[in-house]
Amino acid sequence: QEEAVFPRVTPEGSRPAKESNAGELGAESISAWFGTHQVLDRVSLSMPKGKVTALIGPSGCGKSTFLRILNRMHELVPSAALAGAVLLDGQDIYDPALRVTQARRDIGMVFQKPNPFPAMSIQDNVIAGLALTGTKRSKDEKEELVETSLRRAGLWNEVKDRLRQPGGGLSGGQQQRLCIARSLAIRPRVLLMDEPCSALDPTSTRRIEETITELTEDVTVVIVTHNMQQAARVSDQCAFFLAEAGTPGVIVEWGDTDAMFNSPQDSRTNDYVNGRF
Ligand code: ADP
Ligand code: MG
Repeated sequence: QEEAVFPRVTPEGSRPAKESNAGELGAESISAWFGTHQVLDRVSLSMPKGKVTALIGPSGCGKSTFLRILNRMHELVPSAALAGAVLLDGQDIYDPALRVTQARRDIGMVFQKPNPFPAMSIQDNVIAGLALTGTKRSKDEKEELVETSLRRAGLWNEVKDRLRQPGGGLSGGQQQRLCIARSLAIRPRVLLMDEPCSALDPTSTRRIEETITELTEDVTVVIVTHNMQQAARVSDQCAFFLAEAGTPGVIVEWGDTDAMFNSPQDSRTNDYVNGRF
């Protein structure tokens, strides 16, 4: 297994991370392995505060792996190795001196398959993540946080009369919005979303897109999506990942979403965003 080394080299063709600004999330020269299989090769990306970054690209090019790396989840896989750094506010979240709960305290994550605690009430699901932050809150504060978080996730009106009912009784789309509310309740600075709408109906998808666009200013969002219309609708910037014939994933092109869709610089980006892949 590869020893985790920390080269600060910038691969040709990928954009170097900028100096990290406050609240900015930066991946610096990230390489990742599962055993001896390398899946990412020196990926650098800076995700500015309050902006939405979409990660696009074909299946298997390492988007989910990259997203999990941003939340220090790569180390959960026994055979995994990593090189590079992830900086949040200039702090490397892989710093061994930083406990993993500390590293994740400001980061929310939403997966493709909604995963609320099914037997737990809707209101308790929303505040389930608070234990992590260790902050004590009064009953009134909790009630207010439940309402605010559900409102931000576009779910309040549908569930306000049944907050004590189990989360598992909601529809798939509602469950996903509940998971988003649970992520928002910790007041994250970063929200990571891995294809959050790909299993959902159009109404829930629209609600989630509205939530994402309303979050800007105080939350940095990174979303993996296969839906190019969605990427165009919700993101400020896009990164196009590609793993060509047996090579590890790299970022082929990175930039403002409008530019990526209207005047891509690389012919492979052009082919991908126009559905020719
Ligand atoms: P994407 O999200 O772009 O579809 P992934 O990050 O899921 O890509 O996968 C990238 C590569 O890493 C694939 O070759 C996949 O098989 C491999 N991979 C992902 N997770 C694991 C794992 N836990 N163990 C071994 N290989 C993995
Ligand atoms: Mg994936």
